[in-house]
Amino acid sequence: MAQLFSNYINGEWVSRDQTFENRNPANTNELIGNFVKGTAQDINDAAAAAAAALPAWSAMSGPARGNILFKAADILDKKFEQVAADMTREEGKTLPEAKGEVRRAINILRYFAGEGSRMPGMLVPSERDRVHMFALRKPIGVVGLVTPWNFPSAIPAWKLAPALICGNTVLMKPASAAPLSAWRIVEALHEAGIPKGVVNFVAGSGGTLGQALVNAAPLKAVSFTGSCEVGQWLHQQASARHLRIQLEMGGKNPTIVLADADFSSAVENVVNAAFFSTGQKCTATSRAIVEDAIYDRFVAAVVERTKKLKVGDGMQPGIDIGPCVDEGQMETDLRYIEIGRQESGEPRCGGRRLTEGALANGYFVEPTVFAGVEESHTIAREEIFGPVLAIMRAKDFEDAMRIANNIPFGLSSSIQTTNLSRAFEFIYRAEAGLLTVNLPSAGVEYQLPFGGAKDSSFGPKEQGPAALEFYSDYKTVYLKY
Ligand code: NAP
Ligand code: MG
Repeated sequence: MAQLFSNYINGEWVSRDQTFENRNPANTNELIGNFVKGTAQDINDAAAAAAAALPAWSAMSGPARGNILFKAADILDKKFEQVAADMTREEGKTLPEAKGEVRRAINILRYFAGEGSRMPGMLVPSERDRVHMFALRKPIGVVGLVTPWNFPSAIPAWKLAPALICGNTVLMKPASAAPLSAWRIVEALHEAGIPKGVVNFVAGSGGTLGQALVNAAPLKAVSFTGSCEVGQWLHQQASARHLRIQLEMGGKNPTIVLADADFSSAVENVVNAAFFSTGQKCTATSRAIVEDAIYDRFVAAVVERTKKLKVGDGMQPGIDIGPCVDEGQMETDLRYIEIGRQESGEPRCGGRRLTEGALANGYFVEPTVFAGVEESHTIAREEIFGPVLAIMRAKDFEDAMRIANNIPFGLSSSIQTTNLSRAFEFIYRAEAGLLTVNLPSAGVEYQLPFGGAKDSSFGPKEQGPAALEFYSDYKTVYLKY
């Protein structure tokens, strides 16, 4: 019998008759578990519980709240191997990648646990005699968190931890394709003794629960990561109610490769950023913009390297690329590959679904490289979220910068160059929130702000000290002594 995973509302595991399946995208015969399908009533119950828990939780000292997060991090750490394997089985990314992500989630919990002892406010001198003035942080209240499947542990952690440490209470809705990784964090918080109602978890259909969530009377803020369509809809709903909102959405991230780059590391960085995690990172490179002088040699080297990538079940050693997260995402990838064939010509490698042998029961797509892609082509403009790389030719640095920025998205952007001036020109002129130089476009840490520019993002940044800006508000005090 597959395990049943309940929702968590007001400190209780809450079950219902209706459930949905969580299956392994590398082998759909494997049922990982059944999740209780939450209802609008569950969201309302969770919101009411969060509102009731707010006064005591926000009155608790920051270090005391931090201790609970530290404890939850220790509990997750003890279950590290299991939690990472769960992630590979539900999402498809390789086990080393899953381990990296669970390690990150643990570090995020510890980082924000420490913020409980800092919680920086402001203290400045007054113009007036014997006036002491300062601003302290206070929580905003009940916060709704809506998360995607592609980083099913790190993203829930980087929303939950700052929300909680600032003294808010939380209502969280995980992605239906990979709810177990987020559930494990909630389980750890429960085992760490978090007071009832402070954290609530309701899995189920995004449409139904999303509507209930933005309508829930006690809600004060929503933090969302996912697609542009859902983000835009949430924004409209939330704005009508004056909810605070933070959105992290799609991208079409470029890597510029200049002729002076360290050639072999540029190839490695582009292949890594385009294909690892099956291209399903929000910061993945989907456009390589390559200077004319090295263009042909670069295309050949990327194709040669890509052909060596091993596609398969991410639980097995030696696998580089796992499956797409589900059938819908695989169909999207294959549809864009067809569009690419029509607009840009036959891919230089890949381009097919893989069904041979053990791959027959999974959603595997070959890492696919298109070259000669023009700015007007669909695969140069729209987010695919799969293992598909579009290589584009640039006349020179200026042309490459223009192509890189000529897109409505602005999540991450990368340059490969050994020229310091070019690197700095790129840093000041790239229209994106996350920049890398001589590194893959994907691969961020939690100690600095995270988020995009342009249509990729809206609202304050996540992670690092910046996360406190979204999850807290200032109270400003003038005191005459
Ligand atoms: P998605 O379809 O927008 O789903 C994200 C979350 O929203 C899921 O929990 C989903 O629930 C929920 N949802 C769906 N419809 C909703 C509605 N009407 N109201 C409220 N919530 C709703 O995105 P995804 O397919 O999971 O993730 C892929 C996308 O996320 C890509 O576009 C990627 O670029 C983006 N992403 C961005 C970042 C970033 O930091 N910028 C990071 C990671 C991913 P269900 O799962 O039940 O549908
Ligand atoms: Mg799954």
